[in-house]
Amino acid sequence: MEKWPIGVFASIDAGLGVKLEVARDLGVPTIQLHAPHASSRTQANADGFLKKIADYGIQLTCVFGGFDGESYADIPTVSRTVGLVPPETRAARTKELKEIADFANLLGCKVVGLHIGFVPHDRSLPLYQEVIAVARDVCDHCAAQGQSLHLETGQETADDLLAFIQDVARPNLFINFDPANMILYGTGEPIAALKKVGRYVRSIHCKDGKWSPEPGKTWGQEVPLGDGDVGMEKYLRTLREIGYDGPLTIEREIPQEPERQKAEIGRAIKLLTELRQKVLA
Ligand code: MG
Repeated sequence: MEKWPIGVFASIDAGLGVKLEVARDLGVPTIQLHAPHASSRTQANADGFLKKIADYGIQLTCVFGGFDGESYADIPTVSRTVGLVPPETRAARTKELKEIADFANLLGCKVVGLHIGFVPHDRSLPLYQEVIAVARDVCDHCAAQGQSLHLETGQETADDLLAFIQDVARPNLFINFDPANMILYGTGEPIAALKKVGRYVRSIHCKDGKWSPEPGKTWGQEVPLGDGDVGMEKYLRTLREIGYDGPLTIEREIPQEPERQKAEIGRAIKLLTELRQKVLA
């Protein structure tokens, strides 16, 4: 595959991302897939999906885990509901994430992505040790099928994320870097963060956002690619600097407005195609 193929975040029946047909219409060569519901994670559906994307000329690069009951309504709600951190849903979600990894494996996909949730910043807390243990458990499940686990960025600062990865100490634990999330969650200037965590970055999102007036307390605003505070040219230049050569996966989360979502992703493809040419020249 060429360096930096364009991609888009897509879904079949659940969660975030555009429909496969939108990815086809936009002519992107790669997708990341939001995991479908349990009832859809069958061999027959895997076969059907693989045939469809082969027909569309699309390669699957990552399957993202997600769970019922997660809400990104505001930052405290994310903290309460997302990922493997909330204790009351942890056991069931860990089991489901392993099933999602198994489904990714049926699809021949060796990368599983995840919003693990708000990892506590105090490393002496029992909750921190619990999250370390669950991350190891999932990494080991993935490793047995030759898969890596990529943590989505945003909920931690670059330093906290590095400390967490080093404490988990598993060779198949990496990062899916989302520069907009650093801004939206108020966890740090994304370019500086990317330089810090660069050696663990194995997949990325191309998403843009504007800082909240109260970073870390209230959401920043997600905006079309190029209109926000990330600085897309600088982002690509930094990706080049850290030696990243995987897909540029566009994420635009306005599922309630599919026409606008498709149009804005179309413009994002154009922008990234131009910038890629310039930066790799
Ligand atoms: Mg993202």
